[in-house]
Amino acid sequence: MLHDRDRIFTNLYGFHSPDLQAAKMRGAWDGTKFLLEKGRDWIIDEMKASGLRGRGGAGFPTGLKWSFMPKQSDGRPHYLVVNADESEPGTCKDREIMRNDPHLLVEGCLIASFAMGAHAAYIYIRGEYIAEKHALQRAVDEAYAAGLIGKNNIHGYPFDLYVHHGAGAYICGEETALIESMEGKKGMPRLKPPFPANMGLYGCPTTVNNVESIAVAGTILRRGASWFSGIGRPNNVGTKLFCVSGHVNKPCNVEEAMGLTFRELIDTHCGGIRGGWDNLLAVIPGGSSVPCVPADQIIDAPMDFDTLRNLRSGLGTAAVIVMDKSTDIVRAIARISYFYKHESCGQCTPCREGTGWMWRVLNRMAEGRAQKREIDMLLEVSTQIEGHTICALGDAAAWPVQGLIRHFRHEIEKRIDDYAANPHSESVMIAAE
Ligand code: SF4
Repeated sequence: MLHDRDRIFTNLYGFHSPDLQAAKMRGAWDGTKFLLEKGRDWIIDEMKASGLRGRGGAGFPTGLKWSFMPKQSDGRPHYLVVNADESEPGTCKDREIMRNDPHLLVEGCLIASFAMGAHAAYIYIRGEYIAEKHALQRAVDEAYAAGLIGKNNIHGYPFDLYVHHGAGAYICGEETALIESMEGKKGMPRLKPPFPANMGLYGCPTTVNNVESIAVAGTILRRGASWFSGIGRPNNVGTKLFCVSGHVNKPCNVEEAMGLTFRELIDTHCGGIRGGWDNLLAVIPGGSSVPCVPADQIIDAPMDFDTLRNLRSGLGTAAVIVMDKSTDIVRAIARISYFYKHESCGQCTPCREGTGWMWRVLNRMAEGRAQKREIDMLLEVSTQIEGHTICALGDAAAWPVQGLIRHFRHEIEKRIDDYAANPHSESVMIAAE
């Protein structure tokens, strides 16, 4: 459990003002100049030592990512791009940072850019986040007016920060699609290599980081790497924003220590499972792209990257979607499949054709209008999509389907049996609605 004194986002719920003066009283911009004076290498080493793993879903070590940027410029400018395109179903954490604690993000942009030799950073914000964009822009304007950022700022490091509003497309959360979109093109992922650290925005060295990863940087450096790495479990350290939705009594966003158990998370912050713990069916622990985990496996599992990977799921963005026994799990996963079909950019055949195919088959399965042999065929097709596409959307579409078949094959088979026994029965008709 996280002590209040260890919270980074002390205004997550907006109980206090997000403006500069209030943010400073909460600790933002405290000693930033002193941190920069310690130098680029110190910042990167400290971030590595903190053990921070990227909060956008993949969990790649943040300090290591920063170190991939060239030490010396070859004449091209360096850029930091902050991914605020939060579009994964279930995820709503960066939204709260931008609404209520935007100065932590603005300060983090300066620090991270300094560490990577970037004099300009862009925050790419999701198209639907209108109010958040205004809140963020207000914070950026305040920082300029106070001389905290800009050409001649008090930190002695020329730095410009731009907020770029997307048009609202899930695929633009993929880092190279985001870069394409910022360049004014269609948001379609690029083949890698070259990686953005060599050739990113406008062909220049670029690092793309999630909002939360950047917003925690200032506090980590102020309080020390050992403070951050002392929270949680080895290789899964620090605090994390969890977004809990679905069948809990009080859905919420909460900052917690990495590695607390699912039961602690739900009992402490969400008022328990709707109908009690015996009513829990399954959980999608990291946003809609990760496989679901059945109740008996998740209840006492620590919520961290490694444990959830061992359960053949993932922490992802820590968007915890809770489903009780009233859930039609086959239809729920069919709905998720529809999302990925809709958001596929269409460049790769396995993704373009496979996502729609999986959705249509799952829709039939939700009604029972299928053959049992199609279950293995569906699994096989999902493995032909996974790992065979330009970007991770193919994997994101395949994994929920694989999780469903792994854990709820019996439920699909039962539907098929029920339908075969009585195609016009009431229960089958209800499932079909
Ligand atoms: Fe586009 Fe899908 Fe290929 Fe990603 S995997 S590049 S979304 S077609």
